[in-house]
Amino acid sequence: MRHALSVDVEDWFQVGAFEKVIDKADWASLETRVERNTDAVLGLFSETGVKATFFTLGWVGQRHPGLIRRIADAGHEVASHGWDHQRVFTMDAPTFRADLARARGVLEEASGQRVTGYRAPSFSIDARTPWAYAELAEAGYTYSSSVAPLRHDHYGWPEAPRYAFRPLADADLVEVPVTVADLAGRRLATGGGFFRLLPSALMNFAVRQVAGEGQPAIFYFHPWEIDPDQPRVANAPLRSKLRHYSRLGAMAGKLRGLIRRHDWGRMDAVVAEARTHLPSVAAR
Ligand SMILES: [Zn+2]
Repeated sequence: MRHALSVDVEDWFQVGAFEKVIDKADWASLETRVERNTDAVLGLFSETGVKATFFTLGWVGQRHPGLIRRIADAGHEVASHGWDHQRVFTMDAPTFRADLARARGVLEEASGQRVTGYRAPSFSIDARTPWAYAELAEAGYTYSSSVAPLRHDHYGWPEAPRYAFRPLADADLVEVPVTVADLAGRRLATGGGFFRLLPSALMNFAVRQVAGEGQPAIFYFHPWEIDPDQPRVANAPLRSKLRHYSRLGAMAGKLRGLIRRHDWGRMDAVVAEARTHLPSVAAR
């Protein structure tokens, strides 16, 4: 079973947990580390011989077009993480459409690839955004990986299906939620900070669990998670700081272990395979 490896490409000051203490107007003046960190991720993937999907902010693509080109040239998929990390449920449909188009224009120009995948910032497609999938389908996206099917303090759509589904009756668009582990009926997050903070055994258990149900695992992390030397945001909430800064130094080694233990690939390839197991779309 081939699982999906994905990276949400954003800088240390663009994460959802800090959005209340770092003004977007200040982003351009902060020390950028996303290029060197993502290059380190590319090095790790090259060393372990895997291809992955990089869900990238348009804002990052505009400032680091050479990085986007290197991601594409190394055989990885460049996909969209929106323009500047604005959560989908804070937008209306026309604003979302404009956000998608702006990010895609920059990413396609820089990569020379067509962008067909989307991941909402902070998994912000949920019951509050019934128009979002129609916008993605209309814009020609083939898949989205924008749902965390669980309850969490910052995000989550606990009623969403755990595995790939077609959110629209009349379109081919597939939503592929990120992997959650099922522990005695409770859904637990496994990617990003959870992978960093919890024992590797939990992610390995989740991969085996979903594979046992014939499903691929969908794993994600961020380039800043392998950067122990990033600037510290002093005035962030304590809980956010504990989550953001813990165990950064151990992350690269942990990732290497996870990558070597299972078979990983790009989201577009994994989604194409998952699609063959879904009921086909009714005649249009
Ligand atoms: Zn993000």
